[in-house]
Amino acid sequence: MGTAVTRYLAQAGMATAVIGPDEPANWQTHPGVFASHYDQGRITRRLSKDPVWSQLAINAIAQYRYLEQQSGIPFYTPSGGLYVAAPHMDNGYLAQVETIGRRCFQVAYEALDTPELAERFPFLAFPPNCTAVYEPDPAGYINPRDLIRAQLAVAQQHGAAIIRETAVHITPGPPFTITTDTGRTIESEKVVIAAGAFSNCHGLLARPLALRVKTETIILAELPDTEATRLADMPTVIFQIEDPALDSIYLLPPIRYPDGRVYLKMGCNTRADQYLPDLEAMRNWMIRGNSDVILAEMKQALQTMMPGLQATSWHSKRCLITYTASGYPYVDQVADGVFVATGGNGSAAKSSDAIGKLAADLVFHDAWVSDIERSFFTAVYA
Ligand SMILES: Cc1cc2nc3c(=O)[nH]c(=O)nc-3n(C[C@H](O)[C@H](O)[C@H](O)COP(=O)(O)OP(=O)(O)OC[C@H]3O[C@@H](n4cnc5c(N)ncnc54)[C@H](O)[C@@H]3O)c2cc1C
Repeated sequence: MGTAVTRYLAQAGMATAVIGPDEPANWQTHPGVFASHYDQGRITRRLSKDPVWSQLAINAIAQYRYLEQQSGIPFYTPSGGLYVAAPHMDNGYLAQVETIGRRCFQVAYEALDTPELAERFPFLAFPPNCTAVYEPDPAGYINPRDLIRAQLAVAQQHGAAIIRETAVHITPGPPFTITTDTGRTIESEKVVIAAGAFSNCHGLLARPLALRVKTETIILAELPDTEATRLADMPTVIFQIEDPALDSIYLLPPIRYPDGRVYLKMGCNTRADQYLPDLEAMRNWMIRGNSDVILAEMKQALQTMMPGLQATSWHSKRCLITYTASGYPYVDQVADGVFVATGGNGSAAKSSDAIGKLAADLVFHDAWVSDIERSFFTAVYA
């Protein structure tokens, strides 16, 4: 979100600097903050049970190709996306995508019955009588690291400064003096706090926001080349599984990671998830949390969904999900000259560009100019 805010403000002609550390090379010895985007794949789709999230995704997806072109950095693969809900888990999904998706936003999708699901996706297996919806291109996935690089590249083209440090203090203002972990100070008339799970840390905000940060575990199944080729045309998958230990599974197609290997990534809520109260608890989780505690159950779920999957190694990884009280990101002015864009609710990578634009417009115009109603994004305080 922060890189999108930066890009839009720089393009609007404001003197803009983004302050934020790059991904740590070594998590174990990293002394600072982490982020929720250290990965190669985030699902993007227009269908949602919620019209606000649909609209944000539609607005963001409309920018992907432009951003790729302007930056020269590809980050988007429109692989299509499959949504499957086990028989007792669909909660009216079909009716909602019909109303919100097709009628409200003209999003094309196909509802699939059990035989159609098996025929179209023979490498996947689900219980009989699931609800299944296939959303074609432009649904797919983005590489969040490359999306950030693209946003920053375009922001830089328009004069933005990138300061790869951590803000540790902000004086009351305006004007504000922001101090970073290296002791550098930056003067600014306006500030936007877009620090994800860490937005309430370091006293950056005079009044803390109502944010709940949850541990999130993903597993990576390393695939040999033959298996990656076999599954190359796979869509993204969301599966509302009926299971005592896991729920809300998401699965990405085979993607090459920076270590040169190809992995399938699966994530979900698990019975081991915990809420993290403060900076130290978040750092502890990211550095030494025991994500392996749920690896066996997650592996089993993936192998059940993909019978015969040939994986050469299995790994768990840790991440953070930041929930707001409203279920929508907070995009708001919280004091004179102080704005927030935070609270992804586990769904904001795909829409970060559109959320960033809402914040940048608010900063630039000192008014809400979007067609999406402002009240959805009102900050709630702790
Ligand atoms: C495992 C996992 C899977 C997900 N899957 C999906 C998906 O498929 N689709 C989807 O749309 N979304 C998905 N999400 C959610 C999505 O990744 C988040 O909603 C999104 O990253 C939130 O963006 P953000 O900018 O608010 O926070 P972040 O991405 O965490 O960025 C915050 C930035 O602020 C920086 N920062 C923190 N403190 C400071 C400070 N004091 N000074 C300066 N900088 C600071 C951090 O270093 C970081 O760069 C997933 C999340 C997780 C964890």
